[in-house]
Amino acid sequence: MSSPKLTDGLGRAISYMRLSVTDRCNLSCTYCAGGPREFIPHPDILRYEECTSLISLARSLGVSKVRLTGGEPFVRKGFTDFVVRTLTDFPGLDLRITTNATLLTPNIDTLARAGLGRVNISLDTLDRAKYQRITGCDLYAEVRRAIDACLAAGIKVKVNCVAMRGVNQEELPGFVNLARQLPIDLRFIEFMPVGGANGWDQTTVWSAEEIIAEAGKLVGLIPVGRENQLGKTGEAEANRGPARMFEIEGGLGRLGVISPLSCHFCATCNRLRLTSDGRLRTCLFSDKTYNLRPLLRHPKLGPDAVRRVIEAAIRTKPEGYKLLRERMKNRIQGGSVCATRMHSIGG
Ligand code: SAM
Repeated sequence: MSSPKLTDGLGRAISYMRLSVTDRCNLSCTYCAGGPREFIPHPDILRYEECTSLISLARSLGVSKVRLTGGEPFVRKGFTDFVVRTLTDFPGLDLRITTNATLLTPNIDTLARAGLGRVNISLDTLDRAKYQRITGCDLYAEVRRAIDACLAAGIKVKVNCVAMRGVNQEELPGFVNLARQLPIDLRFIEFMPVGGANGWDQTTVWSAEEIIAEAGKLVGLIPVGRENQLGKTGEAEANRGPARMFEIEGGLGRLGVISPLSCHFCATCNRLRLTSDGRLRTCLFSDKTYNLRPLLRHPKLGPDAVRRVIEAAIRTKPEGYKLLRERMKNRIQGGSVCATRMHSIGG
């Protein structure tokens, strides 16, 4: 694919799309769902063919990375088949899945055979009882099984852990150990004030700097240069991202931090997000969305109309840290930077 064609008003080239296939999830994580949820009615969820049209359009606009997310993508019927079809239809596309991995294991062989190279797995604790407290489900063992099965099948694994002071901070040695023993990228993501009542306040922030400083007391950490964020085996350049990664001395895996709060990466943000009901979101922290679904479903309109809306929306893509600072300062929505909950956005 040639160089990106989608550029926003600040000159940022857009090459990465997060596409949510459902807002439903079998877990109900405190920091994400934060209580009872209302789900989007089925008729409003994009059909798989519509998702395929959007991927095709995004490809033509220079998008090279697509992440399928949710809710939990594997709760949607037919999801594995959709991934297989997408891998076949779009050779060369850097396609990955973001999942809680509780429903992943039975699908791993099919996905590996179809050529899926990577998954991002969410895991916020290494303690079974705590896992149940955070997620509402006793499925910790299932997630660990899925991680091992992915590695055995040759699928690379990134483990994402939401860093929450007072929740999982004391588990740092265990997480560091996991990344030493397994060939995974383990990334701590700063807990974000997204979606209202998710338990976030200043006291729950465990910053990226603190994590790296504390981890550095446990093991030798060797920074992976931004210019060389290609992984041990020199995978694609597309593997770059907002994470600051570190090799672990004598370890098999790597440790990383993603710091949307303490050290934002808006200047290099290359993302657009599509929610499962077809709303384009140009910034995680902004509730402004562009509804593409009516255009996709209109008998006379089609990809051209959708393309025009995407291009216009991208031109005004905001810098999220400004929204974050302003809202935090004014305590709008009880300190939460946007009202939409993460399970509806897709992370
Ligand atoms: N169900 C899938 C999963 O668990 O990965 C995909 C959806 S989930 C909303 C996507 C990502 O968002 C996960 O890595 C999750 O940990 C992260 N996330 C959700 N709420 C968050 C918050 N308040 N702060 C930081 N990350 C959050």
